Amino acid sequence: MDNENKDIENIEEPSENTEGSLSEDKDASKTGDAGKSDNSAYEDVCFVCRRPESKTGKMFRLPGGICVCPDCMQKTMDTVSQFDYQGMLTGQPIPTDEELRKMVEAADKASGDDSSDDSKKSRNANPFPNFGFINLANLQGMGGIPNKQKLKKKDPNAKPLIDIKNLPAPHKIKESLDKYVVGQEHAKKVMSVAVYNHYKRVATDSMDSIEIEKSNVLLIGPTGCGKTYMVRTLAKLLDVPLAIADATSLTEAGYIGDDIESVISKLLAAADNDVEKAENGIVFIDEIDKIAKKENSNHRDVSGESVQQGMLKLLEGSEVEVPVGASSKGAMVPLATVNTRNILFICGGAFPGLEDIIKQRLSKSNSIGFGGTLKDSYENDPDILSKVTTEDIRKYGMIPEFIGRLPIITTLQMLTKEMLIKIMTEPKNAILKQYQKLLELDEVKLEFSDDALEEIADKAMELKTGARGLRSIIEDYMLDIMYEIPKDDNIGTVTITGDYLRGKGAPVIGMRGIE
Ligand code: ADP
Repeated sequence: MDNENKDIENIEEPSENTEGSLSEDKDASKTGDAGKSDNSAYEDVCFVCRRPESKTGKMFRLPGGICVCPDCMQKTMDTVSQFDYQGMLTGQPIPTDEELRKMVEAADKASGDDSSDDSKKSRNANPFPNFGFINLANLQGMGGIPNKQKLKKKDPNAKPLIDIKNLPAPHKIKESLDKYVVGQEHAKKVMSVAVYNHYKRVATDSMDSIEIEKSNVLLIGPTGCGKTYMVRTLAKLLDVPLAIADATSLTEAGYIGDDIESVISKLLAAADNDVEKAENGIVFIDEIDKIAKKENSNHRDVSGESVQQGMLKLLEGSEVEVPVGASSKGAMVPLATVNTRNILFICGGAFPGLEDIIKQRLSKSNSIGFGGTLKDSYENDPDILSKVTTEDIRKYGMIPEFIGRLPIITTLQMLTKEMLIKIMTEPKNAILKQYQKLLELDEVKLEFSDDALEEIADKAMELKTGARGLRSIIEDYMLDIMYEIPKDDNIGTVTITGDYLRGKGAPVIGMRGIE
């Protein structure tokens, strides 16, 4: 026995004492044989958690020499099965990064993971260290996921928005306009007919074999004479969405300023992002004269002729992709396709200097014969604008293709003193009625004498800003009155006189109970 033991000890001794080549065999015998690779002197480690095979158990060997331990493989499969794209399968929201981390921790606990703290730290909470999960739902706060879509599908059974049977006749439209817009009789008539024809065309679109041309309108008239106001009132009466844009801010796509298509995106916003409603809307482009071709310009005319060119397609009718909820296209802005075929475009402008072009043309055509006397009559004609022709507008700097797409041209007159007085007093929401209503709340009756009205109108005429100046003038005078009157409960009536406005006296005050 002793000998035998000795023999064994003798055999083992050299292996214990021998360092070097045999030491790995010794390690391997300590850790067991599972982790030992056949050909390499090193152990395989998990690609995900970096633990050696000796600790994790047999690895899965993937193509490309990648090894993944059973734990990590299990977690991968678990996570993938939970990864439900935007809740499409289960209606559940996909986990955020934070939730993923918690899930991994919970899985760790459940599997009684006994790995050291270090190896835990080395593992990312995200089970895929080189991959990031993007929660697509989170992107929606940044304006949504870019996608091309019609926001609302057309319902084939839906009634047309503007029913031709309920479309008011032109004279009815004008009657309604009369309640708000003072004067401008011709323009109101033209607009009523244009709007009527336009919506008749829209309503009978599919039935009609003859395509009725689109009736876009060009409104020419001095500032403050009611161009915008008329269009606004019309849109309200017809209950269609309206977008008002300023041509001065428009530039060719790619330059600083608004793209031309931003106009349609405004309309879409006015229609509460309802594409179908927007497609029947009205677009008013103000200051259209500001995009006239610049003469003698060597530079690229990005805000003039190019804008006219860019607008051609819109005016005629085309499919436009517009950003929803933003004025410009961006990576994160969803797009909607709007067809402009049925959108009524109304362009407005003051066209300063157009009178001279008209006068020139008229005097030229009459220069043979009795021209001399006739010329004088044009010089002082207050209504010279109404004699405008497309040729004059072309001379002004609008390109023929552009003018051709605005077949209806109408002019508005400069407001006269009488019209200004009417504007102050007659329309439903006239400014004086508004003040009277305000003071009525204090049980005070407000009146304006005739010469006071004339005085205000004169002052507005001096400003040359049409009816725009009226409010600021009246507001100036009314400030003291609105301040003083509520002080004294006995005041029953206040009459504003011309003298008061001229600074020669006080308003006439009547006491309560004394007639
Ligand atoms: P523009 O012709 O420059 O577009 P607006 O239509 O904006 O001028 O007119 C400015 C304001 O003056 C309107 O909001 C409206 O209250 C008033 N106004 C102008 N013209 C008329 C009019 N003919 N009848 C009634 N109010 C008018």
